[in-house]
Amino acid sequence: MDFKPVLIQTGDEIEELATVYNDMMIKLNDYVDQQKRFVSDVSHELRTPLAVLDGHLNLLNRWGKNDPEVLDESLIASIEEVKTMRTMLEEMLALARLESIDFQDEDLICDPTEVSNFLMKNFLLIHPDLKMSVKNDLSPDSLAHIYPNHYEQGLKILIDNAIKYSPKDRQEVNLHLAEDEDYIITTVEDRGYGISEDDLKHVFERFFRADKARNRDIGGTGLGLSIINRLVENYEGEISVTSVLGEGSKFTLKIPKIK
Ligand code: ADP
Repeated sequence: MDFKPVLIQTGDEIEELATVYNDMMIKLNDYVDQQKRFVSDVSHELRTPLAVLDGHLNLLNRWGKNDPEVLDESLIASIEEVKTMRTMLEEMLALARLESIDFQDEDLICDPTEVSNFLMKNFLLIHPDLKMSVKNDLSPDSLAHIYPNHYEQGLKILIDNAIKYSPKDRQEVNLHLAEDEDYIITTVEDRGYGISEDDLKHVFERFFRADKARNRDIGGTGLGLSIINRLVENYEGEISVTSVLGEGSKFTLKIPKIK
């Protein structure tokens, strides 16, 4: 969108009105630009799995009927691509929903202990061999100012990543709940592959995936952390990460406390 500010220097209410109008238009401009970038990123990202799927379907059509090996390989690869596209779609919907939330204050009460206990049980059901520890330093009445499903969604992405980006024999997730005067502080630490210093700057960007070679086998969309980034922005929280390549990563999520 091409917006030219209205310049009025009359020193009165009309100038004030023009300033308010300019500010509003700049925000609207940013928003439209963001939406455009989003649509263009999404089209770009969907193009790759679609092209792969197209390739496999053509292969199946030509050779797959008579060659059981081609049939097998292409079917498995196609199912994987469809799975990636479905996840991408679900995550994009999650992002879009975050843009339009309008919660009442009474919805924004979250007990982090309850949510993390619930998640830990669920993860252990799916990954029975996972080493998972929870250290809880919260006082019993400490609550976070966030819609509980959003806290759960954020924490789930972090734990999911901690498992996904760790070699099978080092799958260990250490969850720590703490607080300071203003924030509930949740850290998720793993002993996985870690993230290089260069990549660390980009991990919260939409569709960014570090270590493309390995990640091709791991599966993912590069949207999870950008969802958390958007989430914390909505709640005036913070997300940060420290990592040592080959040793592991530690993500810290800070959500304002209810006082
Ligand atoms: P996805 O996992 O779908 O690729 P994310 O936005 O959740 O997308 O993560 C972006 C990238 O950051 C991942 O592709 C991965 O390279 C890196 N990453 C995220 N979490 C971790 C982690 N715990 N350990 C190592 N790398 C990670």
